[in-house]
Amino acid sequence: MEEKSKSRKRCSFCGRAENEVSLLITGLNGYICNDCAFQAYEITQEAMGGAKKGNLKNLDLKELPKPKEIKEFLDQYVIGQEDAKRFLSVSVYNHYKRLLQEDSGDDVEIEKSNIIMVGSTGTGKTLLARTIAKMLNVPFTIVDATVLTEAGYVGEDIESILTRLLQVADYNVPEAERGIVFIDEIDKIARKGDNPSITRDVSGEGVQQGLLKLLEGSVVNVPPQGGRKHPDQKMIPVNTKNILFICGGAFDGIEKKIAQRLNTHVVGYNAVQNTLRIDKNNMMQYIAPQDLKAFGLIPEIIGRLPVLTYLNPLDRSALRSILTEPKNSIIKQYVKLFEMDGIQLKFRPEVYEYIVDKAVEYKLGARGLRSIVETIMMDVMFDIPSQSVKVYEVTLDYAEKQMAKANISRLQTA
Ligand code: ADP
Repeated sequence: MEEKSKSRKRCSFCGRAENEVSLLITGLNGYICNDCAFQAYEITQEAMGGAKKGNLKNLDLKELPKPKEIKEFLDQYVIGQEDAKRFLSVSVYNHYKRLLQEDSGDDVEIEKSNIIMVGSTGTGKTLLARTIAKMLNVPFTIVDATVLTEAGYVGEDIESILTRLLQVADYNVPEAERGIVFIDEIDKIARKGDNPSITRDVSGEGVQQGLLKLLEGSVVNVPPQGGRKHPDQKMIPVNTKNILFICGGAFDGIEKKIAQRLNTHVVGYNAVQNTLRIDKNNMMQYIAPQDLKAFGLIPEIIGRLPVLTYLNPLDRSALRSILTEPKNSIIKQYVKLFEMDGIQLKFRPEVYEYIVDKAVEYKLGARGLRSIVETIMMDVMFDIPSQSVKVYEVTLDYAEKQMAKANISRLQTA
């Protein structure tokens, strides 16, 4: 009986049953689903004179942060990665300039320069994007390319990349149309080889073709709630001409392609000299557009991402800096946690070295630093708030004991 009455709950607007929608809100004499509630909201907005449309935040070049200032800001949070920081700072600054050019009235049109950042996972690509977002005065969002598929396949439509941007812009379309989108894991939509395949490649080329439209600048119909388009959903047209796209990807194994290219290019009488100069530990710094093609990005996409930059692998000294130096470094976060209990937290300097050693030993990278600190601190964090202690110092001995107790294999999958 209970089952039956449940299944009768339907949206009074679109008629879909409770199990066909994400949320069904109960009213006095009926129900409304999340989709219809949203559409109702949109209709009211439109009826009330498009409330926010055209209400753009004013940009003034004199007041906007200069590339140097943008980089200095990034320096507070991100260790190293000089090249990527400079490229990003200039690109963001130019993005502002392009937004301002419309008033200039001459024929020189500044075209946008979308960016692609290549670097192993955990080297700071997303961190750079998030940090830059903190100081921007245009809408900014991060999306993941792995969920994308070509229209008609399981997964999300390419247009849904812009859904999040619309959401952060509070559905103010003109505002979203000058935003910045960070597309993470762009390498996951590479086709599986350099040669175009005859068979259909669901996750690769088709998605790239779709993405190309966004990068080039065109009017696309965006599903307001993302995911798959559904027939009753009202689409919002968005022009991507002024949206800056920053793409990031690990491109696992691209070093080999770079090495291959460098090797074939250095044959000749000064070959020995050239090979000597190549730093084999950091091949990423030699990345060129043709390597992206060899990895499986179509040339048209590469052409639409004219700014190519790389991130360095994090060495021991970079990891050591990451532990304590950034404005919100892991250690600073723990100190703050203890401070809230009125306890002053201290670390013996050798503990820092030990943490970095472990991260290097288990190849955990920067992400591993946090899990190591977490492992060391868990017991103290459990006990100390109930004790009347004013100062606590973590010693090497204690850190070693905690790590010995922990299951390292758990850390490695972190
Ligand atoms: P990616 O996007 O390249 O895979 P992330 O930016 O997500 O890597 O980095 C993971 C975490 O590692 C960050 O949240 C940050 O704590 C730390 N980290 C990585 N690289 C750096 C760096 N260069 N400076 C400071 N912290 C970093």
